[in-house]
Amino acid sequence: MKRLENKIALVTGGGRGMGANITKRLAAEGAAVVLTYSKSAEQSERIAAEINQAGGRAIAIKADSADPAELTNAVDKTISAFGHIDIIVNNAGIYVGKAFEEHTMEDYEQVMAVNVRAVYASALAAVKHIPDGGRIITIGSNMADNATGPHATLYAMSKSALSGFTKGLARDLGPRDITVNLVQPGPINTDMNPSDTELADFLRSRMALKDYGTGDDVAGLVAFLASDEGKYITGTALTIDGGFNA
Ligand code: NDP
Repeated sequence: MKRLENKIALVTGGGRGMGANITKRLAAEGAAVVLTYSKSAEQSERIAAEINQAGGRAIAIKADSADPAELTNAVDKTISAFGHIDIIVNNAGIYVGKAFEEHTMEDYEQVMAVNVRAVYASALAAVKHIPDGGRIITIGSNMADNATGPHATLYAMSKSALSGFTKGLARDLGPRDITVNLVQPGPINTDMNPSDTELADFLRSRMALKDYGTGDDVAGLVAFLASDEGKYITGTALTIDGGFNA
């Protein structure tokens, strides 16, 4: 039997970047997966179709994480399709990087809406539908603990808010054996952080290991936390960054 057989998972931003790796990995481990997207409709539908063709179960739903009503709608659709939600993966995220003097209040609203408020909103919409033993896994960033350099204030601020969310909710939901954890990746080769830039060379110079990680590296950790093997890990951050923060 596969590790996530009979489990239902919701992955925000699950059609692109490391979210796509997470979607495919959870499906390969036996979970039925609902993946959300805001812009990447075609890619998300293709991933869902590939999973269904391979004998799995997947649905792609448009849901802008910046809009709590759309997230609630995605949760409701997941319940209509599959009856409940065992695993939420809050993966959708955005990076606004520039000199602090150039920041606007709109930047703040946008980054906090997607990176923070959406995490709260999805948990709030889903909590009644998560059975005992469920999982809430959020993709933060190692930059919550190490801002690394300039231009990251807003992003680091948003990602560090997830630590309080994770610790508080782990205590709220612990009596139901629902675990709540934060996965904090370091440099992972995606559209957000391509590995062939000048910045990437600087980032490499700060790592303990030689190179960038992959979406599959992160997906493996998420699948472990989602599985029964992860049942005693809760309320904590797991940094997966090639030793960047060491
Ligand atoms: P990408 O930019 O490659 O992908 C971002 C994903 O988030 C896409 O699936 C995108 O979907 C989705 N997304 C963005 N905005 C929204 C929105 N408003 N509503 C719904 N979905 C949205 O980034 P990564 O894959 O690299 O990042 C995934 C997560 O990992 C993020 O939380 C990021 O902060 C975090 N992270 C990334 C690191 C890296 O080095 N790559 C390092 C540390 C953390 P769509 O195209 O449909 O908008």
